[in-house]
Amino acid sequence: MANQDKHIENSPEFKGLKVNEGIAHPGAYSDNSVRRFLQKKRKLLSVDEYVDGILSGNITLLSKAVTLVESAKPEHMEIAQEIIVRCLPHSGNSIRIGITGVPGVGKSTFIEALGSYITGRGNKLAVLAIDPSSERSKGSILGDKTRMEELSGNKNAYIRPSPSAGSLGGVARKTRETIILCEAAGFDHVFIETVGVGQSETAVHSMSDFFLLLMLAGAGDELQGIKRGIMEMADLIAINKADGSNREKAQMARVQYRNALHLFPQKDSGWDPEVLTCSAISKTGVTEIWDKIETYRNLTVENGYFARRRSAQSTFWMHETIQEQLKQKFYNHPEMKGQIKDFEQLVLNNKMSSFVAAGKLLENYSKLK
Ligand code: GDP
Repeated sequence: MANQDKHIENSPEFKGLKVNEGIAHPGAYSDNSVRRFLQKKRKLLSVDEYVDGILSGNITLLSKAVTLVESAKPEHMEIAQEIIVRCLPHSGNSIRIGITGVPGVGKSTFIEALGSYITGRGNKLAVLAIDPSSERSKGSILGDKTRMEELSGNKNAYIRPSPSAGSLGGVARKTRETIILCEAAGFDHVFIETVGVGQSETAVHSMSDFFLLLMLAGAGDELQGIKRGIMEMADLIAINKADGSNREKAQMARVQYRNALHLFPQKDSGWDPEVLTCSAISKTGVTEIWDKIETYRNLTVENGYFARRRSAQSTFWMHETIQEQLKQKFYNHPEMKGQIKDFEQLVLNNKMSSFVAAGKLLENYSKLK
């Protein structure tokens, strides 16, 4: 359109007048500053708002609170702790199931199958993870959200990938606190997934009511990276991929593992660990596993072990946290950093024994405060 048509003032009869075409005026705020403002504003939620949101089952607010739990910023940690304290009385009303197994055994496929079954029965399921690989290599063995596509779209399921920053102790603490928030938000089933490497399975075991170990037939224990200790922790071993030509091998493995489990001492829970076979991909044997978990729950609630184990876990995590924090404070103290280096040299040059050096360093540290 000609400028003349748009502005009548530019017609020949209006001599001496000229109206130039306007140009778009840039906004007073750039898009980025608006986004930053909104983000800042979003962060300004009060503890009450988070807590009310969580208790009413608002997933967006639950996720935001979990992000605070995972944050290393002191102001976030402070507000996260307030939220946790307020949610604690509303937590605990769930069954927490630890699921472990080497990469490729079928954990996420199994969680999809069992998770769909559980949520299909009207339950709410939170799937959390402890992935030690995500800190070390910045990559994750357990993968990200692209896994478990079926559950991701399920409104009764909440999937949260592993917190990645910090030591295993730190990551475990965050997951434990996330369990509390999820339970307060009404999730009555919690899965905590981990890989059977490092110490992560011990951490998961110490925050779950039931510990499920997924295994494969045919691969040696060493090949599966499964340590004796993990088998001993298991309340149920499920041999996955019991389908097609693998079915027979799975049955044989079942007998072998069953015999192996008999060598372990009786558990305090009064429960005899079982070995079952399943196929996560064709969803066979999965409901049988669930039935066993329910039987376990009924047995241990009745005999008092369920509550005893939870109490023991709470005090265990208190002591874990004390140790973790003492260690951090000691090693991060600016004064101690230098001293530690000096004493290391004395030890390396055989001028002082390791024990005397440690004793002196601790003594010096206690005088600092
Ligand atoms: P994760 O690493 O333990 O989480 O294992 P995934 O669930 O990602 O499974 C690894 C591979 O094994 C995938 O290709 C799955 O499709 C396959 N898989 C999982 N469960 C079964 C099963 O029951 N039978 C068979 N044949 N394949 C399976």
